[in-house]
Amino acid sequence: MAIREIVLEPNEVLHQVAEEVKEITPAIRKLLTDMADTMYDADGVGLAAPQVGILKRIIVIDVGDDNGLIEMINPEIIASEGEQFGPEGCLSIPGYRGDVRRANQVTVKGLNRKGKEITITGTELLARAFQHEIDHLNGILYTELAENYYEIPPEEEEQFEQEQEQQATNEKKE
Ligand SMILES: [Zn+2]
Repeated sequence: MAIREIVLEPNEVLHQVAEEVKEITPAIRKLLTDMADTMYDADGVGLAAPQVGILKRIIVIDVGDDNGLIEMINPEIIASEGEQFGPEGCLSIPGYRGDVRRANQVTVKGLNRKGKEITITGTELLARAFQHEIDHLNGILYTELAENYYEIPPEEEEQFEQEQEQQATNEKKE
């Protein structure tokens, strides 16, 4: 288990476009593992490689649903549908939150760690996580999209996490 340091805003690396992965080397597979470790350690639901200082198109997501841990290389949104509006946070901007309008459902295509093409369709929290993490690969932070953006008191942070878990549980039931 290797936890990497999460890059915090302001940092130029968070505003740059990440490069496509051309070859899945052992270093890329190690990065995927470390990114998941780092995400779980920080209690996040997603992490993009630029957030650990690496400008490559790689994301990990786990919203606590049946998909479990999603590792995706060169992810691309190939379809999106509907709309949702709700709170979002970012591990690179601790202590803040903002309400962001997103597609309610997205279908994302990419490669897994074995180089096999995978396609995943997600709704609600998973769709939001995909859009948020893929934005990171394009140097876009949610704060640029948020309709309101505010500092959260530390005691509310815990409640926010519980709400996200609740949302993931509700999705499971649907
Ligand atoms: Zn983020």
